[in-house]
Amino acid sequence: MSTTTKMTSQEAIALEDKHGAHNYHPLPVVLSRGEGVHVWDVEGKRYYDFLSAYSAVNQGHCHPKIVDALIEQTKTLALTSRAFHNDVLGVYEKYITGLFGYDKVLPMNTGAEAVETAIKLCRKWAYQKKGIPQNQAKIVVCENNFHGRTTTIVSFSNDPDGYSDYGPYTPGFIRIPYNDVDALAEALKDPHVAGFLFEPIQGEAGVFVPDEGYLQKTHELCKQHNVLYIADEVQTGIARTGKMLACDHENVRPDVVILGKAISGGIYPVSAVLADDEVMMVIKPGQHGSTFGGNPVAAKVAMAALQVIEDEKLTERAEYLGEILRRELRAIKSDMLTLVRGKGLLNAIVIKPKGDKTAMDVCLKMAELGLLAKPTHGDKIRFAPPLVITEEQLLECVDIIRRAILSFE
Ligand code: PMP
Repeated sequence: MSTTTKMTSQEAIALEDKHGAHNYHPLPVVLSRGEGVHVWDVEGKRYYDFLSAYSAVNQGHCHPKIVDALIEQTKTLALTSRAFHNDVLGVYEKYITGLFGYDKVLPMNTGAEAVETAIKLCRKWAYQKKGIPQNQAKIVVCENNFHGRTTTIVSFSNDPDGYSDYGPYTPGFIRIPYNDVDALAEALKDPHVAGFLFEPIQGEAGVFVPDEGYLQKTHELCKQHNVLYIADEVQTGIARTGKMLACDHENVRPDVVILGKAISGGIYPVSAVLADDEVMMVIKPGQHGSTFGGNPVAAKVAMAALQVIEDEKLTERAEYLGEILRRELRAIKSDMLTLVRGKGLLNAIVIKPKGDKTAMDVCLKMAELGLLAKPTHGDKIRFAPPLVITEEQLLECVDIIRRAILSFE
């Protein structure tokens, strides 16, 4: 069978169903093209993308400048491994550390790998700098966290889908309620705590925004206790919430920043960990790495993707349009729409089921009307369009959302 045959949505879904692992439950839409805020299915129907590949496509689908960077570098030199130097990596490292104001960057590929990197950094720092006895270091994490899918990361998840039957679990994590400063203060009484790993806004949990002041207060506590403040900005970073990093909303500078997703504009898997020398230099040659991490294509793609954010002022745009989106969503009068929340263009609504109609039915209706979004944790729907969306397009999308919800009245 040819791998380029044109097929219908039904045929494509049947192929995945038969030959692919069933570790996802996608909406029944088969996409074959993307440009800016739009994606098209194999039948040619156009949709607004309100998920943006879980906020990886902040710069819009197939951004020409990022695609060009990928093509040019791929034709020149794609991969050397870190056994040899390449002439792009250092330029990228200078660029990204300058942009975010850290001494060093450690490049990886996926978000989960970058989180693992931060955990390893934190533990090594605990033994070499903080003086915690070997194998005793603990990292504080939050209830309803989502940091990825590796065995260590799911070990501290409280989502049964995430962790069930994957034991034995990695020890060394303490889980506390999110948005609870006192709980952190209590946990930090343990002198073996080395780090606090958190999301500035919990994305997968349904865009849960902590109270104003949570970041500042938790940061201050960590400083007092010589505990590394480790922000997982994989989903919240790169302008998504209306600031370059979500921690910028409270002018908090984490000790370790974890980036992924939109750092490549969704063109290529790129992730990164930023820290100062005091932390980063605890890892010595041979003690951590990745065949693909820091390859020249990734480096060029990331520089182009970050430059697009700056050139197109996507941070300011996310902030401005986010206000409009939440205001317009709140104006929709329906018993089903119980809550609107978010920051910048990372938003969610909470849907109260009506009869047998749930958030999934709302998503299917929106898809029919030309807008793609996906429920998370049953009753929440995330709204995170590419940041390049115009105000006019956004208002058109609100109209689709309104009509979808009201269709169940
Ligand atoms: N951290 C956060 C906050 C995330 O939202 C995600 C992905 N949803 C990850 C880490 C994992 O990233 P990846 O899927 O690239 O491994």
